[in-house]
Amino acid sequence: MRIAFIGLGNMGGPIAANLAHAGSNLIVCDIDRSKAKALIGLGADWANTPSEAVQDADIVMTSLPGPQQIESLAMGADGILANARDGAIWIELSTNNLEVERRVRAAAEEVGVQILDAPVSGGTEGAADGTLSIMVGGDKVIFDQCLPVLKMIGGEVSYLGDHGAGYVAKIAQVVLCYLHSVALSEALMLGVKGGVDVEIMLGIIQNSTGRSYVADRYGPPILRGDYDPGFTLALAHKDMRLTLELANSVGADLPMCKQVEDIYARATGAFGGEQNHLMAVRLLEEANKTYLRARPPQIAD
Ligand code: NAD
Repeated sequence: MRIAFIGLGNMGGPIAANLAHAGSNLIVCDIDRSKAKALIGLGADWANTPSEAVQDADIVMTSLPGPQQIESLAMGADGILANARDGAIWIELSTNNLEVERRVRAAAEEVGVQILDAPVSGGTEGAADGTLSIMVGGDKVIFDQCLPVLKMIGGEVSYLGDHGAGYVAKIAQVVLCYLHSVALSEALMLGVKGGVDVEIMLGIIQNSTGRSYVADRYGPPILRGDYDPGFTLALAHKDMRLTLELANSVGADLPMCKQVEDIYARATGAFGGEQNHLMAVRLLEEANKTYLRARPPQIAD
């Protein structure tokens, strides 16, 4: 079985590496060829274009920044759908919205390509360890066929129902990552301003009713001041925008999400989308003239 993998970034690179380690017949593609170096070393073939990657593939997998890239890669004469063979299955691993999912699926049906939405959670560690949580929507028969491949890259693989259900579940759970990051930084700031040492405060949170994955995973990078290089502010803001879009389309009123989306929008505007996602915390640090660090640098007035 030939697998084409497109999008070899922070997530796609290690996911594709796990497919290679499992002995898959792999062809890879990215707009940045340097991202394929390690995979070529593991035996993967390189394709110069997505159309070349998919033409002989039984399964196409994509891990792309978001809806815009998914739709542009799907459509057009050089796109996935015009070049994939009849009967191919496209496992889409990115975080996407329902509008693009519907448009791309309608186009896929016309050319005989089956799509599963299969967004992931677990970060770059989960991608590297092959322990991602994968949330899948689509045809159950196609899901069952793809399960062995999904098991090569994931730990918990959940079939959630019809097309789009994977994206809905992904967005509904990932929103907590950003709400918790902002909440964690405010709790730390409150403790520090009240005179508690920041490392002690984080330890207290990690051992109290306020503990969370975010406190364990993102507390240390906040205190180190590297703001976690695992993913970018642009992708975090995209997830918050997708949350509000989804809320709008399903008729959910989510006041906290609106505030947190605004924080990520302002952080992206202030620091740039390529910065690490926890730079959102920097807005709070600057407003309070206090870094949440063990040995904080001074913030000038
Ligand atoms: P990334 O920006 O590191 O990787 C995206 C890759 O896609 C890049 O290598 C880029 O060059 C490539 N790309 C973009 N347009 C392309 C095109 N037209 N053709 C070929 N390649 C193209 O992003 P990431 O952090 O790996 O995230 C990928 C997806 O996974 C996103 O949808 C993100 O929301 C989701 N996600 C990320 C994480 C995380 O911790 N990083 C966790 C869960 C889900």
